[in-house]
Amino acid sequence: MSDLTDLYQEVILDHYKRPRNHGPLEGADHEADGYNPLCGDRVKILLRFDGERVADVHFEGVGCAISTASASLMTEAVKGCTREEVEEIFSRFHEMLTSEAPDDADLGKLQVFAGVREYPVRVKCATLAWHTLRAAIDEPASKVTTE
Ligand code: ZN
Repeated sequence: MSDLTDLYQEVILDHYKRPRNHGPLEGADHEADGYNPLCGDRVKILLRFDGERVADVHFEGVGCAISTASASLMTEAVKGCTREEVEEIFSRFHEMLTSEAPDDADLGKLQVFAGVREYPVRVKCATLAWHTLRAAIDEPASKVTTE
């Protein structure tokens, strides 16, 4: 794991050690389970909508530092967003992680994952929570995997 030291920036470590919005969500009306077999990360995303907006979002599960920090930062990023806004943030986040020459989109704290681009296997860790979130929004109680 020592080659990943550079990835473990302060923000990622902080969210791994003290994940935000972690645990059950009262009144959740959408949820999905995600699994990344390459790393063993498991995440459950729980959402409660108020009309078109995400009123609250929590996650549960156990994963590596990157998957946990990504889920934690994601919950902060999408709370209060509409479905369309969630898609917009996801597509910019995904582009940052996978594009050869990503735009310098302002992703706020999510930008701490830019270094993950150098480690393709870790991209699945960083995007697991997002894929699971989209599954939860589209189809309550579905299961997704990164494979
Ligand atoms: Zn992982």
